Amino acid sequence: KSLSERDQLVNWHPYTQMQTAPAPIGIVRGEGALLFAEDGKEYIDAVSSWWVNIHGHAHPHIAERVAQQLRTLEHVIFAGFTHEPAVELSERLLRLLPANQAKVFYTDNGSTAVEVALKMALQYWHNQGIPKTKIIALEGSYHGDTFGAMSVSERSVFTRPFQQYLFDVEFLPVPVPGKEAEALQRLEEIAGSGEIAAFIFEPLVLGTAGMVMYEPKVLDQILALCHKHQIITIADEVMTGFGRTGKRFAMDYLTQQPDLMCFSKGLTGGTMALGVTTCALPVFNAFLSQDKTQALFHGHSYTANPIACAAALASLDLVEHPDFIRNLERISAAHLAFAGKLDGQPGIKACRQTGTILAVEFEVGETSYFHNLRDQLYHLALDHGVLLRPLGNIIYVLPPYCITAAQLEQVYAVIEQMRLLVVE
Ligand code: PMP
Repeated sequence: KSLSERDQLVNWHPYTQMQTAPAPIGIVRGEGALLFAEDGKEYIDAVSSWWVNIHGHAHPHIAERVAQQLRTLEHVIFAGFTHEPAVELSERLLRLLPANQAKVFYTDNGSTAVEVALKMALQYWHNQGIPKTKIIALEGSYHGDTFGAMSVSERSVFTRPFQQYLFDVEFLPVPVPGKEAEALQRLEEIAGSGEIAAFIFEPLVLGTAGMVMYEPKVLDQILALCHKHQIITIADEVMTGFGRTGKRFAMDYLTQQPDLMCFSKGLTGGTMALGVTTCALPVFNAFLSQDKTQALFHGHSYTANPIACAAALASLDLVEHPDFIRNLERISAAHLAFAGKLDGQPGIKACRQTGTILAVEFEVGETSYFHNLRDQLYHLALDHGVLLRPLGNIIYVLPPYCITAAQLEQVYAVIEQMRLLVVE
C-alpha cells in the first residue's frame, strides 16, 4: 500500500473529515522550497508548510545543529534545571526584540504561547488585586485552537461547536485604511470601563482572516491608548515573526513596545515544535513572591526542549545572516511587481502585499469558507506543482525565503491560471 492509502486507515488530519476529501499526498523528502511526493511528483511549497519553514526544507545548518544536540542532551526537566540552548536562545532572542522584553517563557507551539500570554495578563491583575478581567481582540483574528486562544479568535468555523465554553471578549474593528478612526473610537469607549485586562493582536497582518493588512501608525496609536488605560498589550507574532513582514518582526515597524509577545512557527525554521512568550519586566515582577502564591502555575513537559532550542539557535544564525534581509527584499520586490500587474485585472477584487506576504482576493459571488472555489483553486495549484492553500476566495503566498526567482515565477503563473478560472 502507498503512504497515502495507509494514512487514510489510521490518521485524522486537521479540517479534512469530508467524505469526498481526496487522499493526502505522501511526502517523502523536502529540500529548499521543494517537497517530493511518493509518486515522483514535486511541489513548490509556496506557503512554507503553514507559514513555518522560513528557510525551506531540510536546511543543512539546522540539521547539523539538531543532530549535534541530540547526541549531547535531548531533554531535561525545565523546573529547577536549565541548559545551554535555552539560555543562549533567550539571550539572543531578547537582543533582537523590542528593548523592554526581558524574560522568555517556553511552550510548545503558537496556541500555547498565546495561552500563556493570556494567563500572564489576567494573573498580572489578579496578583495585584485589581479587578481587570476582560480581553480585547481584533475582529477576524486567529490566535490558535486551545480554549483561551479560541476565545480571543473570531467566532467562526473553528469555534462554532464551543461557543458556550469561550470567555467573553470584546472585538475591535481591524483598523484597515479608512477604518482607523472607528477602531480608535471603539477602543476609547471599551477602555473607559476600566475592566480591560489586555489587548491581543496580530501586528500589521491578520493571517487567517485572509492576510488583512493595516498600518504601523494606527497600531502605534492603539497601543499608546492601551498604555494610557493600563491595558496589557500582547503582540502575537506567531505568523508575522522572523521576517514575514519584511523586517525581522512586525513590531520593528512600531515605536510603541508591547508588554507581551508570542512566537512560534518560524522560530525553529520548521524543524521542531516550539513556542515562546516573552514579557516586559513589570509583568514578570508581578509574579514574584516569598511563598509561590503569586507564581504562574503553568508548565509543559517539553518546555524548553534542548533540541527545539538548538534548532531555533541554528535558525537564528540564518535570520542574522546578511542574506536573510537580502532575500526578504528580493521576495518583497517580486511580490510588489506581480501585485502591480494583477491589480485591476478582471477577476481580481484586491491585491495586498506586506514584505514576503502576498494575498490575492478573487472576485466571486460567494465567499463562504466551504464554497467550491476554494477546492478548485487548491487542486489547480497542485496540478501545476505548487502548494497554495486558499482561505476562501483569497490565495496567499508566504514562501520560504530561499525560494528562487524561477520558482516564484511558477507560483505567480499559477495565480494567473486561477484568475482565468475565476473569470470563466
Ligand atoms: N497565532 C497566529 C497569529 C497564528 O497564525 C497561529 C497559527 N496559524 C497561531 C497563533 C497558532 O499557532 P499553532 O498552530 O502553532 O498553535
